[in-house]
Amino acid sequence: MIADITFESTDTAAILAGIVDQLTELRTSPDVSGPQAHAAMQQILLIRNLADHHAATFTGDLGRLDVADGKGRRLRELLVVMGCAPAVAARFVRIGTATDIDPLRRHAADGSISSEHADAIVRGLSHIAYRSPEPVDPDMRSAQLMSLQSWCSAGMTPAQITDHARTIANELAADTDDGKPAAEDKSINELGYHKTDDGRLDVRANLDAVAGEKLHSLVESLSAPKPQPDGSHDPRTVDRRRADALESILELAGEGLADETVSCKPTGGVLLTIPADAPKLSALEFMGSVTPATAKTLGCDAGITVVIVDGEQVPLNVGREKRLFTPSQRKALLLRDKCCVKCGAPASRTAAHHLRHWADGGATDLDNGCLLCTSCHHDVHDRGWDVVMGFDRHPWLIPPATVDPRRRPQPAYNRRTLRLDVAA
Ligand SMILES: [Zn+2]
Ligand SMILES: [Zn+2]
Repeated sequence: MIADITFESTDTAAILAGIVDQLTELRTSPDVSGPQAHAAMQQILLIRNLADHHAATFTGDLGRLDVADGKGRRLRELLVVMGCAPAVAARFVRIGTATDIDPLRRHAADGSISSEHADAIVRGLSHIAYRSPEPVDPDMRSAQLMSLQSWCSAGMTPAQITDHARTIANELAADTDDGKPAAEDKSINELGYHKTDDGRLDVRANLDAVAGEKLHSLVESLSAPKPQPDGSHDPRTVDRRRADALESILELAGEGLADETVSCKPTGGVLLTIPADAPKLSALEFMGSVTPATAKTLGCDAGITVVIVDGEQVPLNVGREKRLFTPSQRKALLLRDKCCVKCGAPASRTAAHHLRHWADGGATDLDNGCLLCTSCHHDVHDRGWDVVMGFDRHPWLIPPATVDPRRRPQPAYNRRTLRLDVAA
């Protein structure tokens, strides 16, 4: 316990510098025993909790003393500049600037609560206040704080504390006439996403029943398993099929927006930039760098604006005329192929794929095109499936050797005679 140190009476930073020195000197012995490592870890966690508690308190002080404003920055930005990760800075600001949480601060002052737990309690309180149809009076608020703290003391995780706050908010809402149950409350809907270190997008959503129903019914209707051309089962997992369905929904929505938007901005459209002399540096506007292979796949997609740029990032041409099939060519493809040539998905969900890619000099004409849905399109560009034009001027599919070691050509979906629905 370091409760005897009184920050007000002396130079706080100097005292902390002394603690930093002690921690810097700390060396772990190579022959530490299990119980010793465990006991040391417990102390370190206490130190971490205490450090976070003081960090939140000093954040409050920085805010109260206008230090951030004085430097022309918001409090959170100031912490980020000082070396905090953005999420940690946001947490310190929430805890440090929260009002009426003295019991929580007293509890945190002995190191028994991590800042993640304290933050879950603070966010829980604001969630309850936000959901409450009437202002929360001080007695109710302190009862809610006690309830959330008791969950923390019982060893619950921050996520469980957050759930508990949602339950309290639901009960409050259900008790009043115009309060909405959480299931129907759009005001707490959330859609969050962030780019991951490996260049992917991590998506998290929390939706009310109606929005959830819309999402569920569309995703389910577009994610049914599709048999392979040889009749074998769809190898994709359920989650993978749903992700493919979501991408189809986005493409359909993008097309809908494009139809309605009379604007030269690429509204609702995906913008891909390909440097003419360095295709390896192709990049999406938001997500960043993509491989040349993916750039080629995207090149078949009518919903995507491809801009070829020179070394100075100046657009050379937008390449639509050469790249995209015209509406009448698409109608001709529709007449010939009827649907996705690999799985039979409706033509409305297909892109016109170039058998020989336009970037490799492939012509944009009927004999060089076929209809492929999103997931089959990726099979063709990335997973070894080939499409060739047959002697009959219909597209034929050649499976990768992993699917058929002899790589025997298979007819397009609408020309498969061994389909049960035709045979019946
Ligand atoms: Zn398909
Ligand atoms: Zn393609």
